[in-house]
Amino acid sequence: MQRITHFVDGSSTSLESTRTSAVYNPSTGEQSGEVLLASADDTRAAIAAAARAFPAWSALSPLKRARVLFNYKALLEKHADELTTLISNEHGKVFSDARGELTRGIEVVEFACGMPHLQKGENSPQVGTGIDSFSLMQPLGVCAGITPFNFPAMVPMWMFPIAIAAGNTFVLKPSEKDPSATKRMVELFSEAGLPDGVLNLINGDKESVDVLLTDPAIEAVSFVGSTPIAEYVYSTASAHGKRVQALGGAKNHMVVMPDADLDQTADALIGAAYGSAGERCMAISVAVPVGEETAEKLRSKLLERLDRLRIGPSIVDGQDNDMGPLVSRAHLDKVSGYIASGVEQGAELVRDGRNFEADGNGFFIGGTLFDHAKPGMRIYDEEIFGPVLTIVRAASFDEALELVNAHEFGNGSAIFTRDGDSAHQYYSRVKAGMVGINVPIPVPMAFHCFGGWKRSLFGALHTHGPDGVRFYTRMKTVTARWPSGLREQTNHFTMPTN
Ligand code: NAD
Repeated sequence: MQRITHFVDGSSTSLESTRTSAVYNPSTGEQSGEVLLASADDTRAAIAAAARAFPAWSALSPLKRARVLFNYKALLEKHADELTTLISNEHGKVFSDARGELTRGIEVVEFACGMPHLQKGENSPQVGTGIDSFSLMQPLGVCAGITPFNFPAMVPMWMFPIAIAAGNTFVLKPSEKDPSATKRMVELFSEAGLPDGVLNLINGDKESVDVLLTDPAIEAVSFVGSTPIAEYVYSTASAHGKRVQALGGAKNHMVVMPDADLDQTADALIGAAYGSAGERCMAISVAVPVGEETAEKLRSKLLERLDRLRIGPSIVDGQDNDMGPLVSRAHLDKVSGYIASGVEQGAELVRDGRNFEADGNGFFIGGTLFDHAKPGMRIYDEEIFGPVLTIVRAASFDEALELVNAHEFGNGSAIFTRDGDSAHQYYSRVKAGMVGINVPIPVPMAFHCFGGWKRSLFGALHTHGPDGVRFYTRMKTVTARWPSGLREQTNHFTMPTN
């Protein structure tokens, strides 16, 4: 059985770890490996390696740092099949979807290759007579990243390529559920020429996370995961004086206006609700048709498509499935429990994924559809993170918008309409960080910022794009007077003005 170790100071190592956690292939339900879980001391060893590497790495010219990232991008592309297979085998998402996640991650590396330009700072000559002012965007030091199971390649790449390109060193703690792709990505960065200790990976659980949140050598923490842990990470690391961005859970709504093209809408909705078995923070889990006629038509179009959903192993010879299994047996039980609660609380269960019959012992569940749900029901209020779409009917645009805005989460949201005014009203007034207009999953490109509102994000700055550069750099503003300017200075005692 495969044993997944850490990567510290340029090489794979077990450190002193004795605890392990099982890793499964969700398509077969079989254990495929075991991952080491770092102790507090192991974690401190990784932080120490990153701290040792910081002075030399941060002193290197941004151009030389960027060249290592160019090599890294080429290596990621060369190893794309290998990485995609690792993702599919441990996460369970289908091959084409895993490739898509890898591509979106590589796009962040491409963005980070532009760091010599992105990190230029500002410059104002002659802010006073003979005085120039300019800013430096300097790296912070050792940064930490803690990532979820659902994007083992893309989410870590939201973090470390930008941090490292900006001159920081990094300790990454990926999910213990599917660590192999992340570990391989870290090895490849080393093969691309990254000096030892600049990027370290420790596998682990709460024991290692707690060290990352509190150790004085860590300057900044990026977290992506569920809301309760995001809140814990934010409050703990902030209390220890660190810069923190903690992205949490979601319940993304799609408002469907009566004028929308309902075939296009249903096609988009099926992919957005059931793709990756609903295990996406930007999945649409609530459809809000406006008006009874829209609701009835949308429901029947969804059912046609739902009944054609191809569900099966994440990797098959020939054609891909649409949807693979859930990540674990425990998660399958959790999602099934939500379906039971929806029935108990009075929602109409239109399709029950618990009836899906899979070959073998994989963690499969079918696409599930609820109608006539409302706030107060757990299937509406809480994040299920499975292939469960809930229809909540609204009588008007205003009622739909109010519903979306009253929800605890505000990660993504979408409106489907052909009417420019409805679209404009929606994107102007909706309380969500990412909005799609006839786009079901509006994940911003690497050169824009990704992040939610409300309890979907704790912290001021979003991830990647300009916010990513700001997060991983500290501004220093220099005001310089040259000797010829000093000659003109007469009064040293008043506040300088022009
Ligand atoms: P999770 O919160 O269980 O785990 C995330 C990370 O935190 C993992 O590395 C895990 O080991 C660690 N962790 C878990 N429990 C901990 C604890 N008690 N103390 C300290 N660390 C702990 O999340 P998950 O199940 O891996 O991922 C799914 C969640 O992530 C969903 O809620 C999803 O919405 C969210 N997510 C959000 C975004 C976003 O951009 N907002 C993106 C992807 C996933």
